[in-house]
Amino acid sequence: MGRSAVSANLFDLIVSHAPEAGRRFLRTGDGRDITYGEAIDAAGRLANVLASLGVVPGDRVAAQVEKSPEAILLYLGCLRAGAVYLPLNTGYTLAELEYFIGDAEPRVVVCAPEKAEAIAALAGRLGVAHVETLGEDGRTGSLVEKAAAASPAFATVPRGPGDLAAILYTSGTTGRSKGAMLTHANLASNALTLKDCWRFTADDVLIHALPIFHTHGLFVATNIVLMAGASMIFLPKFDAGEIIRLMPEATTMMGVPTFYVRLLQDPRLDKALTANMRLFVSGSAPLLAETHHAFEARTGHAILERYGMTETNMNTSNPYDGARIAGTVGPPLPGVELRVTDAETGKPLPAGEIGMIEVKGPNVFCGYWRMPEKTAAEFRADGFFITGDLGVVDARGYVSIVGRGKDLIISGGFNVYPKEVEGEIDALAGVEESAVFGTPHPDFGEGVTAAVVLKPGAALTEAEVIAALRDRLAAYKLPKRVFFVPHLPRNTMGKVQKNVLRQTYG
Ligand code: AMP
Repeated sequence: MGRSAVSANLFDLIVSHAPEAGRRFLRTGDGRDITYGEAIDAAGRLANVLASLGVVPGDRVAAQVEKSPEAILLYLGCLRAGAVYLPLNTGYTLAELEYFIGDAEPRVVVCAPEKAEAIAALAGRLGVAHVETLGEDGRTGSLVEKAAAASPAFATVPRGPGDLAAILYTSGTTGRSKGAMLTHANLASNALTLKDCWRFTADDVLIHALPIFHTHGLFVATNIVLMAGASMIFLPKFDAGEIIRLMPEATTMMGVPTFYVRLLQDPRLDKALTANMRLFVSGSAPLLAETHHAFEARTGHAILERYGMTETNMNTSNPYDGARIAGTVGPPLPGVELRVTDAETGKPLPAGEIGMIEVKGPNVFCGYWRMPEKTAAEFRADGFFITGDLGVVDARGYVSIVGRGKDLIISGGFNVYPKEVEGEIDALAGVEESAVFGTPHPDFGEGVTAAVVLKPGAALTEAEVIAALRDRLAAYKLPKRVFFVPHLPRNTMGKVQKNVLRQTYG
């Protein structure tokens, strides 16, 4: 874009929404404060470091680092420099990194000091120009040293709305991970919309205990705080005790369902503890209606559930005012179009029918990095993105997610929606939770299979579970096998990994 045009760089928008320089941007659990003025300066220093390493606008900067304030400042520094921020799950192994780094071809990789030697060897082979380090607490490493010596003054690189701000790799439970390309306009529109819908103001203090290599913690939580000029209590990971200790200082929290399940296990969670809180948000995985109700009974707060994904940012949200309905993810956000279609034909379905969720709007990504065919396959001709999630819209316009399309079980030619079977199993006395998935079956193509976690002290057998479901579910929906497990396999975002279950019990 021309230098004279108004820049669409998300960082400029952040600066235009920032409060006075002395206001707090974040505080760590051990009381370290970073003000807005310091954050903007630090982003300038980091942008200067990146520029000195030869980063030009559009270059990728990959970061596999622990959660620290400096890791967020690096994201801001990348925005200022016009670079494309590429956060990587801290759990990825060297073999996995080889794929991501080879695919994304970043100019710079930032990693933990302990991994620098191994990653430098990999980076050298893959033609990456620079490997820098950032320690776990954010206060050590070559990046920190270089930033300390750099000037805070940096002319933020102008960007157009369609220029990339970040690439986030999808978790890739089937096949290779794909790099979702997110533009400055994608991130800006969603942050502004959510800030308004969830009524964030400069007085808010958000408890941030999510990872920052994922859309939830990096964009939803952080960008909303920045758009509101609010502040956050920035915790390295979820720790129920820490959250309970800090809750009286906070006004809002964003979490995955497991956060709420774990908080409910602590007797200190009650109305008095949450008296200063105005909003709890849940997403990234389904929140059980039971958890929603239990949390409301204990605290008086109805958790607000929303739905989104790496590729689209957030699509729907239960209302701030008005009914937050357990088991639903609410109506589409302003500016987001959502429809449910027949997955085969793409024909829109009427309210009340289950089908493929498709979305369109300024929040939706611009494609998968260097995968034009995959991108084309997941968009309809009229621009709707095929999310891969199955859902249904009710008469009020509220959306419910039924599950991933690829988790749908087709048994004897009939569609079995795992969520329906899980709901019936979960309702049995003695059951804590369950996951239902398909496994290859000689007669039916796929057989319904259940992994069940029992409540402490409960004793149920496979035959008892199946017998109890017999008058609740049609025969083709009944599990053919039930396995009892100590806990369900979950990823860092609390999502049940059905691919792992299919592999184990297939
Ligand atoms: P990710 O790209 O890792 O954020 O995963 C996105 C996927 O998580 C979506 O496509 C949904 O399958 C699931 N998801 C996100 N939010 C919810 C929710 N509130 N309820 C059910 N599933 C959700």
